[in-house]
Amino acid sequence: MQPMPPSQPEIGILPVREASIVEAGKGAGIACDKHSAAGSVSQRACVFCGSRVVLYPIADALHLVHGPIGCAAYTWDIRGALSSGPQIHRNSFSTDLQEMDVIYGGEKKLYHALTELIDLYKPNAAFVYSTCIVGIIGDDVAAICKRVAAEKGIPVLPVNSEGFRGTKKDGYRAACEAVYKLVGTAPTEGIPPHSINILGDFNLAGETWIIRDYYQRIGVNVVSCITGDARVEDIRRAHGAKLNLVQCSGSMMHLAKVMERDYGIPVKRVSYFGIEDMSAALYETAKFFADDPTIMERAQALVRDEVALIWPQLRAYRAKLQGKKAAIYVGGAFKAFSLVRALKMLGMETAVVGSQTGGAEDYKQLQEMCDPGTIIVDDSNPLELAKFCLQKDVDLFIGGVKERPIAYKMGIGFCDHNHERKEPLAGFIGMLHFAREVYSSVMSPVWQFAPRRAAKLKGAQP
Ligand code: SF4
Repeated sequence: MQPMPPSQPEIGILPVREASIVEAGKGAGIACDKHSAAGSVSQRACVFCGSRVVLYPIADALHLVHGPIGCAAYTWDIRGALSSGPQIHRNSFSTDLQEMDVIYGGEKKLYHALTELIDLYKPNAAFVYSTCIVGIIGDDVAAICKRVAAEKGIPVLPVNSEGFRGTKKDGYRAACEAVYKLVGTAPTEGIPPHSINILGDFNLAGETWIIRDYYQRIGVNVVSCITGDARVEDIRRAHGAKLNLVQCSGSMMHLAKVMERDYGIPVKRVSYFGIEDMSAALYETAKFFADDPTIMERAQALVRDEVALIWPQLRAYRAKLQGKKAAIYVGGAFKAFSLVRALKMLGMETAVVGSQTGGAEDYKQLQEMCDPGTIIVDDSNPLELAKFCLQKDVDLFIGGVKERPIAYKMGIGFCDHNHERKEPLAGFIGMLHFAREVYSSVMSPVWQFAPRRAAKLKGAQP
């Protein structure tokens, strides 16, 4: 006889969190864009981590974490961002501050670490990340960076990313401010007129390469990708592009706006996930370069050919996944929009959706695009997410590394749409990978062994 699972107590919501949870169709505004509630155990990372994930894929730069070793270890190779050339970014360098450094200051240690690493690895730039303790002891990181830059002849850029300074979103901003110091520092001769910068793609599992290839095939030149598979020299010339296409708006909109202000480069928000959004990104770009109608013709041909390649398999997955329910919890809300659309294309319903850093406008859009009754949540925590998944009895959870154990503990299929994935999910081919992964996870026979789900799945094996 199977042992009965123990009955679970009802999971409550902290009163301070209630305003950050709404249901689609009820018209209520959501509380967002604020610091996490104390005691809520937010899924968000710290300011330093926010900066590190954004800048880390710059592959020919040195990334030095000024702080205790834990901050560096916690973010080592965090994005899984691939490089087509140098691999300096994949190291996790740290000044490893200890008790005596906290008492006497860590500036000397920082100077020696920087000069030694630059001599050893010959990077084209260096980023120095300030962590919590550096903010407390007051090391003059900017002065050390300036001194080393003068001595070594490369840009050495401080990142003001002390962990306690705000939310992960503040870390994105600190990263944008640091990288912006590179923009505009190299000549732009030779950049073709139909040229773009890709902002907010981090080349997870090689996704930037897929997107770059699409743009090149329709006749649009990519000046720089900030920061997937990025090179310092490309970023220095980024002001020569005619258009900035921003995917991860939470992390890169600040940089795009500053470039618009200072260089007059217009900004478009795009997404490369799902057939609809990928096609729209190409068409939007082609429309912007309307002076050359062949770009639109090539974009239409590309979309037609790529969709024809994957459509038969997508239809087969859709037939199996029809009516299944999913929960989405991701960093930025723009990714959530694409996932809601992609799930719809697979015949699935989004029952729960939330993000770490969405703004009021993002949540308004989510409310409009989701079915009535969908739970929408900002800056959630593990208990809330578990409660919503149980309440809606979802078949799949789409999230990142911190959401994976929540799903597995409840016997729910999981799809990693964040740092740890090894297969590209962007572009048309990415949609096929996504559908295959969703199908494999949702329909896996392993769930029959999860006591909570055994009854539901009995007799419904694929
Ligand atoms: S919160 Fe502070 S100590 Fe913790 S990882 Fe972030 S910077 Fe380091």
